[in-house]
Amino acid sequence: MPKINDSVTDCSHYRLRCVHCGADYPANPFRLQCDQPHAPSLLRTVYRTQQLTIRPHLPGIFRFLDWLPADHFLAGGGKPITYQSTHLARRLGLEQLYISFNGYWPERAANLLTGSFKELEAPSVLARVPEHHRRTLVVASAGNTGRAFAHICSSLARSLYLVIPEKNLDAIWSTSKFYPGVRLIVVSDGGDYADAIALAQQIGQLDGFFPEGGAANVARRDGMGLTVLDAVTTLGQIPAHYFQAVGSGTGGISAWEANQRLLQDGRFGNQTMQLHLAQNSPFSPMVDAWKRGSRTLVARREGVTKAQINQVSAKVLTNRSPAYAIAGGVYDALTQTGGQMYAVTNSAAVRARRLFKELEGIDISPSAGIATAALLQAAEANALKKTDCILLNITSGGTERIRQDYALHYLAPRMAFSPQEIRSGSALRHIEQQLLSV
Ligand SMILES: *Cc1c(COP(=O)(O)O)cnc(C)c1O
Ligand SMILES: [Zn+2]
Repeated sequence: MPKINDSVTDCSHYRLRCVHCGADYPANPFRLQCDQPHAPSLLRTVYRTQQLTIRPHLPGIFRFLDWLPADHFLAGGGKPITYQSTHLARRLGLEQLYISFNGYWPERAANLLTGSFKELEAPSVLARVPEHHRRTLVVASAGNTGRAFAHICSSLARSLYLVIPEKNLDAIWSTSKFYPGVRLIVVSDGGDYADAIALAQQIGQLDGFFPEGGAANVARRDGMGLTVLDAVTTLGQIPAHYFQAVGSGTGGISAWEANQRLLQDGRFGNQTMQLHLAQNSPFSPMVDAWKRGSRTLVARREGVTKAQINQVSAKVLTNRSPAYAIAGGVYDALTQTGGQMYAVTNSAAVRARRLFKELEGIDISPSAGIATAALLQAAEANALKKTDCILLNITSGGTERIRQDYALHYLAPRMAFSPQEIRSGSALRHIEQQLLSV
């Protein structure tokens, strides 16, 4: 995926607005939050063009450039695809079931080569930052985000510091060779995603680095929201229901934000999509809080949380500090859309994955199995009308197909630190010394 040099936008095509207080900021690619002293709140992009013009001649996700906070566009790369389900739809008695497929499925021209919708977010985040800036991006990940960034940064020859738990090492693969400027650091001794986030935050503060920012980065959210833009521009209407598995909740928030933008556009009807968001039980902090009608996540003892996380098969959904309570986050998205949450067991997800493969003809990931199982739950409970327009987000699929069609490269870690070394600051001192010695 080579770089394209011409900047097609001057970055004044969007501004940033605080959801909580309405404060307005110019398009600074590194701004992640509001300066006003109030409760935590997301910023949102406000685009100059209210009506979306699709640019089919631009590569991958950049066909939606009007509604991406991009400084320039990047060549190559895939995009979400949307198609109407026949067999799964018939099985569930639904007439308008649409699948947003994010992954690899050559027969349907689905070409996300790291196999998940995190590959929508990575190019969007990278394109937000001017090409000639010198700072290095720092990303923490449990797997899919890291794989997407490592792959895209390699294809662009951009440097990256990636921090992941050691136990997720086998998630960092690519169909092509990794660029040497892509550096992997692992958290050893049983450390988890939360420890990886802590170390990435420390590195992100060093001179010469900048943090990706997670849910707070508008480029991440507007990249993920492209599943909805692709679906709606394909169908010509906004669906009534949206199903997705969530860990950080970012994709759910993004779907709601894309919906609001499409309402302002005006050409796709006035539907507010009901969000149906699912987690993998027994680790389901957002479901637990939502079912209690609470904006606050239930605090659990460390040991309990760890034990729950270990039982979950969709590991990418095990974020302990999701964007739930924050203004403009999951709680607000569910409230505003009349949304629902679902807790799905491992065995229900296995059944749903099998069913999807048998009926639709492609393998899907454990987390996409969680979303599909939530759809099955809703259909069985008669919560959906036969004629309702429904969008199921298959956030990851086709990784078995990728393994059949490609030889994979794995990224080797450069450094390893224990949670204790991260907490004490000795991990960071070590990294600083390494930087000084090169
Ligand atoms: C990250 C991820 C999710 C959860 O996404 P969020 O909206 O960020 O919570 C779901 N499925 C897959 C495959 C993912 O990689
Ligand atoms: Zn504010």
